[in-house]
Amino acid sequence: MEPFIKIVNLEKVYPNGAKAVYNFNLDINKNEFVVLVGPSGCGKTTTLRMIAGLEDITKGDLYINGEYSNYKPSKDRKIAIVFQSYALYPQMNVFENIAFPLTVNKYRFPVVDKKLLAYRDVSKVLQSFDTPYIEQYLKEAEDKKYAGGDSILYLSKRFDISRAGAKELRSLLDHSDSEQGQHLIDFVNEKISERLKELNAEGKTVNEFSEYLDADGNVIYESRKMDKYEIQDKVFAAAEILDLGPYLNRLPKQLSGGQMQRVALGRAIVKDVPLFLMDEPLSNLDARLRVNMRAEIVKLHKRINATTIYVTHDQTEAMTMADRIVVMSKGFIQQIDKPKEIYENPSNLFVAKFIGTPSINILEGSIRDNLIEIGHNFCIELTKERKEAIEKFYCDLYDEFKQHLDSYDSDERSKEFILHVISAMEEKPANSVDISKTNKFRNLLRMLRRLFAKDKAKDKTEDYDKKILQEKTNTLKEYCNGGHPILIGLRPENVRLEDVAEDNSHGASVTPSLIELLGSELYVHFDFEGNELIAKVPSDTQIDTNKQIKLKISINDIFLFDPVSGRRIYFIE
Ligand code: ATP
Repeated sequence: MEPFIKIVNLEKVYPNGAKAVYNFNLDINKNEFVVLVGPSGCGKTTTLRMIAGLEDITKGDLYINGEYSNYKPSKDRKIAIVFQSYALYPQMNVFENIAFPLTVNKYRFPVVDKKLLAYRDVSKVLQSFDTPYIEQYLKEAEDKKYAGGDSILYLSKRFDISRAGAKELRSLLDHSDSEQGQHLIDFVNEKISERLKELNAEGKTVNEFSEYLDADGNVIYESRKMDKYEIQDKVFAAAEILDLGPYLNRLPKQLSGGQMQRVALGRAIVKDVPLFLMDEPLSNLDARLRVNMRAEIVKLHKRINATTIYVTHDQTEAMTMADRIVVMSKGFIQQIDKPKEIYENPSNLFVAKFIGTPSINILEGSIRDNLIEIGHNFCIELTKERKEAIEKFYCDLYDEFKQHLDSYDSDERSKEFILHVISAMEEKPANSVDISKTNKFRNLLRMLRRLFAKDKAKDKTEDYDKKILQEKTNTLKEYCNGGHPILIGLRPENVRLEDVAEDNSHGASVTPSLIELLGSELYVHFDFEGNELIAKVPSDTQIDTNKQIKLKISINDIFLFDPVSGRRIYFIE
């Protein structure tokens, strides 16, 4: 199946030279809910804005619904955008705010013969509803009129017909009595035939929906603004979905944050477009409301059969809302997968640390012969196959780094390679190179470049990146020759703690320093061989601070990460 959105090698370089997005590739299927997640500055908003047409695409291709869309104006992309700031007009009430996009834009409508449509609608009503029902709804419509409501709207909704049809129905029945049932149907059918003859004489053809057809039998469309009734219909329908009916007359200042956000969503819904783009729409709401709105947005997405791209820095939001998550760091995609898969199979250190609460435990250890050693007193045995897999991993990794180092000066891709490697590390990497310093250094140099000597500063930044690549390549060479450090990832729920008294088998003795109760779970903090760990255990676990317990770590519960590249070392079982 052709994806609804296809993004190929998308890149963004801002006019000041800052590269915000590198080589972004993603296919999104119709009706998917995709979340772009990552820390501030990782390029998620820039990516969304390029899809929205609010930011020029520097390189790469964007296809929306099969159409090449790089240069398509935003207003023609059939998208609705919801921002973090609700961007409501303070002087307009809720109705007017939701209606706003409909009042400013023109839409494509089939050209309809209203007279014919009205008679056909009346005929449909007379044949499908019994007279007492019709009379009852007409009376209800009159009551609405006297209560200040719109009786025609009421009838058109009740009978699911056009406004013109509802008007004709009322006028016909006002001038007839209930005994004339069959006579009325004949009368209306006669009117339909007359109108069809008239159209025929004028050389016009219509289809069963009373839409005009051209000589080839295709529906004729016109581009026009909606009339006030069409707008009303859309706004009321959106208000019903979002539970905003009672607030339509209120000004934004008379609404809560959640209600304001719902109005912003309403404004997106009325546009009736297939693609929703949302940029941190919930970050102005308090925690409780955020949780409710999360569920509402997902329900809304399903109800209106939309395709949604949602940007957030909040990994819980990503995990709970997404069909698929795109994790980003420093302008690079780190992993694209279903939430469960991302959690259970993170592809690198960055993803492992970014996804999950409490955060994954990362232990520093080393590989020596067939053992993973953690501190001086604890080790996990490796099978021969796993040991070989680690050796192969390092041989391949060294080759890859070496190739990029050799072609660094001549190949742009090798310059980006090291940036990609840095992006996959945790924010403060455990290896020798302090990336935060790299960033500060790079930012400083970028500023200098703008102010003084552009090219010189660029060269210096690249010199620095090359130095990192050089250092990492040298380190990997050493790792290939034997024992080396390793990072061990252990999710808090996989930390197994057992009572010392009851357990005589192999394990390490640790002492909890802090125990936090979080409803049905305990977060147990303790030190293990110089690593600060957190275990997540059921709240009925018998455990005390300052009392020894036994820690067990199984090879099947851990992830191994290379400290130089941040990459996960996979084992094929
Ligand atoms: P946040 O959550 O803070 O909005 P983000 O992940 O959405 O962050 P972007 O806003 O896409 O990130 O920014 C990505 C990078 O591009 C950042 O380093 C940012 O400083 C830079 N950037 C964004 N807009 C511009 C601009 N107009 N000119 C230059 N650089 C920009």
